[in-house]
Amino acid sequence: MVEICALASGSNGNSYYIGNENEAILIDAGIHYNKLVIRLNEAGLDKSKIKALFISHEHSDHIQGIRGCSKKLSIPGIFSQHTFSKLKKKHIPNFHAFFEAGKPYTIGSISVFPFKKQHDACDPHSFRVEIDGINIGVFTDIGEVDTIFAQEFNKCQAVFLETNYDKEMLWNGPYRDYIKKRVDSNKGHLSNEQALELIEKHASTDLHTIFPAHISDKNNTKEKVMQVLASLKGKYNIKLTSRQEISEVVRL
Ligand SMILES: [Zn+2]
Ligand SMILES: [Zn+2]
Repeated sequence: MVEICALASGSNGNSYYIGNENEAILIDAGIHYNKLVIRLNEAGLDKSKIKALFISHEHSDHIQGIRGCSKKLSIPGIFSQHTFSKLKKKHIPNFHAFFEAGKPYTIGSISVFPFKKQHDACDPHSFRVEIDGINIGVFTDIGEVDTIFAQEFNKCQAVFLETNYDKEMLWNGPYRDYIKKRVDSNKGHLSNEQALELIEKHASTDLHTIFPAHISDKNNTKEKVMQVLASLKGKYNIKLTSRQEISEVVRL
């Protein structure tokens, strides 16, 4: 049985758990070890199954827990070479390894397929994870949907998909203009509408589970996300993620 959940999701920290009976991986380490363990325990997930930690990009909400998590779980952080080269000393884990876009990285029964994404980091990647014949996408921090993203999305049965902002709230909100432009740009984040359009145009008929993710607390609300995705209710199992707590664990 495959188990997936968002241990944390948002600009205050991101970490996504994907595992089966034997092994598990984390995508991103945006929360510190103590919090991570509390949330794993709450969900009844066994931390000793976690074998590696894949890092999507160097923004702090994806790496601030990397050193402690790598050390205490005795697992490597796995990066693109360029992302690793940008890490500050305080974030460099004791063990590390490198992935390359387009080449699967296999850990036991889990294969991770990294591919480049559009975001304002040095070398940002998304991941599709294949485990026991199920494809799970971890797709956050993405400015626009390009060809490879649409193709990889189309292979997934379950996705963590960014619904970062409501365009009206963003442009009427508290951020400075240059940040609004950055968020809304093709190197920023996906809006609720962009996520909906991606699902409508590129979902495979096998897609069944969607975790709306990386939801802004200034420029979005859970209600707005669910309003925009309302037409999908009944067709998909939609599980909101949270900045404050672990999401529901979905078993596939
Ligand atoms: Zn982020
Ligand atoms: Zn980012």
